[in-house]
Amino acid sequence: MELDDYVLISALQHHAYCPRQCALIHVEQTFDENLYTLRGHRVHETVNIPEYELIEGVRVERALPLWSHRLGLTGIADVVEFYVDGTPYPVEYKSGPRKPREADELQLCAQAICLEEMTGHSVPTGAIFHHASRRRREVQFGDKLRSLVVKTTQQVRSLLATAQLPPPVADERCPDCSLIETCMPYAITAFTRVSQANDLFRIEGDA
Ligand code: SF4
Repeated sequence: MELDDYVLISALQHHAYCPRQCALIHVEQTFDENLYTLRGHRVHETVNIPEYELIEGVRVERALPLWSHRLGLTGIADVVEFYVDGTPYPVEYKSGPRKPREADELQLCAQAICLEEMTGHSVPTGAIFHHASRRRREVQFGDKLRSLVVKTTQQVRSLLATAQLPPPVADERCPDCSLIETCMPYAITAFTRVSQANDLFRIEGDA
């Protein structure tokens, strides 16, 4: 697989949340800020500097580069803890509320799959650290979640290859989305509905 074909792990999370969000960010290079992304930057400031430390026998790596040649994935883990036997335990830091559609769990599982390939250790669990509550939520990497990583990686790769912008979802995901002003989900959906109802773009003489 060529380096250009590698998919960013963050793109899986964006796609799981909304395919249009994924295309806006990774095809059109759009990135807007909202409260959650600004909080996210603050949270990640603490984990985005590559370094490691030993805490009670656990090696803690921050900003660790990841890859899976098998799936063609690459990215950076916020934190990976390595236990004495070498088993990695990825921890993803999140500032906002729990995302729908297992978007964060998918991102974390993709990190685990990369770590398995990189280290040869199986990675059965990891955690999402919610900054607001300062609590960890443990995630099990079962077969269903792993299959979803494989499927979403294929979907993202084909989205990037076609470079097509999917239609807006225009649902409960949009108010929390940082791209809402660029995306205009409700205006586009309303316009599409009206134009289809009125057959606005049919040229006279067409069947
Ligand atoms: S505003 Fe809604 S449709 Fe647009 S990218 Fe965000 S979640 Fe998707």
